[in-house]
Amino acid sequence: MKSGFDAFEAVIGLEVHAQLLTRTKLFCGCPASFGDEPNTNVCPVCLGLPGSLPALNREAAGKAVLLGLALDCSISNRSVFARKNYFYPDCPKNYQITMYEEPICSGGAFRLGEEGPTIGIERIHLEEDAGKLIHGDSGSSLVDFNRCGVPLVEIVTRPDLRSGKEAAEFLAGLRRLMRYLGICDGNMEEGSIRCDVNVSIRTPGSPSLGTRTEIKNLNSMKAVEAGIEFEVDRQERLVSSGRAVAQVTSCWDAGLRRLVPMRSKEEAQDYRYFPEPDLPPLVLDEAFIEETAGRMPELPDRRKRRFQEEYKLSPYDSAVLTAERGVADYFEKAASMSSNPKTICNWVMREVLGELNRTGTPVERFPVHPESLALLVELVGRGAVSGSAGSEVFLEMSATGCTAEEGIKRLGLEQISSPEILARYVEAVMLENPDVVARYRKGEIKLLTFLVGEVMKKSEGRADPRAAGEMLAARL
Ligand SMILES: [Zn+2]
Repeated sequence: MKSGFDAFEAVIGLEVHAQLLTRTKLFCGCPASFGDEPNTNVCPVCLGLPGSLPALNREAAGKAVLLGLALDCSISNRSVFARKNYFYPDCPKNYQITMYEEPICSGGAFRLGEEGPTIGIERIHLEEDAGKLIHGDSGSSLVDFNRCGVPLVEIVTRPDLRSGKEAAEFLAGLRRLMRYLGICDGNMEEGSIRCDVNVSIRTPGSPSLGTRTEIKNLNSMKAVEAGIEFEVDRQERLVSSGRAVAQVTSCWDAGLRRLVPMRSKEEAQDYRYFPEPDLPPLVLDEAFIEETAGRMPELPDRRKRRFQEEYKLSPYDSAVLTAERGVADYFEKAASMSSNPKTICNWVMREVLGELNRTGTPVERFPVHPESLALLVELVGRGAVSGSAGSEVFLEMSATGCTAEEGIKRLGLEQISSPEILARYVEAVMLENPDVVARYRKGEIKLLTFLVGEVMKKSEGRADPRAAGEMLAARL
């Protein structure tokens, strides 16, 4: 999708909506859970019935502040809720409670990787979600109000992004950060994170911006990248052929791989924002902000650097292990019970992540607990089972939740190091390969490896290869 016009640079800003992980909705006590029977998690407040009054969920405010602090924003001691008026069937009140002129956080920054550009954060505010329309095939539509009033944070970046790839990286980094903070589950397929983007082009370095177009409701990293690349390419073609870019809002059709215009937007829509009369301004004193800052966990970039220093892991391994907080916690727990963190790292990277990917299990529900993994790695290290047998035991542990010792017994994989049993295999192999034995005795000592291999084969991999080699060498 690269156009080859180097005369332009893209100027991209994101508005990310993320659902906050709270038990209840933003202004009422209804559960904020996903996937329940339609229209069961509703009450007069979130249905906007006359006479009902909203009351703020302080937990949501705390989570927005935590995100703001992690993104180096200034936190407002006083912010104001506003009504955004619009009519749509998914919005029973005919307005959405959001924040407009006085958001909760402003002026932050997010660094894209260690060497990447810094993306400015314009603001973060709290708002409530709308309901969900379900379009049937007979032309009729159904509406589910369960999502009405679910708490969202909207994160607005400055127009500092320069490509679809960069925007997707930003979104992935933001998602990872929010999951680290425990404020959003990051399940994009369930709509927990949605993204609107603004795109314009200009001659590189020019202070003025071209006409912006908007792409709404992108719900995956792939869609963000592809939608933006498509739009940048379209604008470059228009401008290069002397035509103007019109202000337009569209959405990305992932199946057709193209943008579909939604409505022409000659003027910004007039939402007639005004301060929400039913809610007092949100006042957050310094004590609340400090208490929230005290709950800040170690963030991914810092943790990655610590893994390199403390456990002597490579930058790559550290990045993989810290990509998810749960995986990093898992590794550290197992490493704390082992004298060899590098070996634990290898097992987590290969076996544990392999099984998590294959089975789609979140690490928190993985049946092999870090303690059990550490024990298995210890048993392999001591030679109680061979490395390949250890992998088989791991799969048994993962499938059944058994301990390492149980798995070894169940699969009959205890390594054979008893001299009596080993001697039986060694003698049998020597008897079966008289010519190899003869050549070895004439000086072809590298044939020892072949004979050890035969012992391993005969014992189905259970013989201790070093002990077998020593015994063979002695008898030859
Ligand atoms: Zn409610």
